[in-house]
Amino acid sequence: MLTQSPYILYSDGEGNIFEDTSLYVTGRTGWDAMPVPEDEWIELPEGGQLYELPGRRGIGIDVKTGEMRLCEKGWAVAAFIPPAHTGFYLAAYETAPDAPTLPLFCYTAAGWSDEKFYVPCIRIEQDIRQDCEGYDQAVVEQGVKKALEAYPHNRLVEHLANNCALTYQCPAARNYFLGRWECPIPSSPACNANCVGCISFQPEDETIVSTQDRLTFKPSAEEIVEYTVPHLESAPYPIVSFGQGCEGEPLLMWQTLREAIIEIRKHTSKGSININTNGSKPDAVRELCKVGLDSIRVSLNSVRKHIYEPYYCPNNYAFEDIIESLKVVNGFGGWTSINYFVFPGMTDSVEEYEALRKVIRETGLKMIQWRNFNIDPDWYLGKINVADTGEFLGVKQLLELIQEEFPDLKYGYFNPPIERIKGNFTMDFAHH
Ligand code: SF4
Repeated sequence: MLTQSPYILYSDGEGNIFEDTSLYVTGRTGWDAMPVPEDEWIELPEGGQLYELPGRRGIGIDVKTGEMRLCEKGWAVAAFIPPAHTGFYLAAYETAPDAPTLPLFCYTAAGWSDEKFYVPCIRIEQDIRQDCEGYDQAVVEQGVKKALEAYPHNRLVEHLANNCALTYQCPAARNYFLGRWECPIPSSPACNANCVGCISFQPEDETIVSTQDRLTFKPSAEEIVEYTVPHLESAPYPIVSFGQGCEGEPLLMWQTLREAIIEIRKHTSKGSININTNGSKPDAVRELCKVGLDSIRVSLNSVRKHIYEPYYCPNNYAFEDIIESLKVVNGFGGWTSINYFVFPGMTDSVEEYEALRKVIRETGLKMIQWRNFNIDPDWYLGKINVADTGEFLGVKQLLELIQEEFPDLKYGYFNPPIERIKGNFTMDFAHH
């Protein structure tokens, strides 16, 4: 553990990053900069990256006077922490009026100490499925070649190969071509929400772009079944998941998904069939549960209606529908997770905490996947009209309070395989 706060980092605007030893780094929560407790810093994990933030000056604490002031030496710096880690504080900076909107990544605080980069976060998930050291691109490409030969007419496999694995470097698609763990099933070119930070579609008039393009075709149940059954049969800890970052909302394709699940379960009882969704259509969820859906993950930026709806801008559904979808799956004995976009100051606000306790109790929630919110913090709070984020607990304390009150509630970052759902949830991943 650190004995003093790390020093602030700055960039020269040409990709070179330096420390300023006249300033300790601060962290951001909501709209405010503050000191970060020493025990909340860890070394920047493998796979983490550093970003320079144009048009932004970092906020630090003068090592001599203890005063808060800007680092005028260069642009502010933030960290993109790798999957399986949850950030406690955002990077703290002052934004110039003409600063460009930042792209859809997470901007965690970062500092320098003892010749190393440090970030305030925790490894929340022991599953190693997206650890960067586990990917050998040459083997991925061999897997792509084999799959394209095995399924020459399958548009989905072609999409997963050429777009997802080889262009977007999607960890889930690469795991499929490595024949292991969670296999993606994108299925919907359309969505019934208009999320401010949608990663598959951004309106023309926005300055930022989506990180991947949305699927352009509607796959058939046959195309889905053709490559997923062999995966469930042969992969270790197999999961097949509807709802990916390169599509709209899978529940809009529920009839095709229903047909596919029926067909899959005719061929194999192995593994877990999961859906990542905005949870907008509880009736469709019920139909999928009836035919064998094992788990659901509902994505949300908040469990408060007045924070959720300005972000998701739902078409023909409301916040209450997503809660109902969780209850439906719980009613069928299925596994329920929320994909919780963690934004320090908002997620750990006292108001959000109280609302979260209520949702966990009402829905019988099984798991929270504490995901870092990939969005420009100023842009987000501006878009949902939040000028004051209110009293807050601290993300680390929020994790502890919720776990204390709900000891059976699981924490993580990824959808668990059936072996963890039905068996030992805290299995040893070293030999995964
Ligand atoms: S629910 Fe998903 S696909 Fe739909 S707008 Fe939101 S992020 Fe985009």
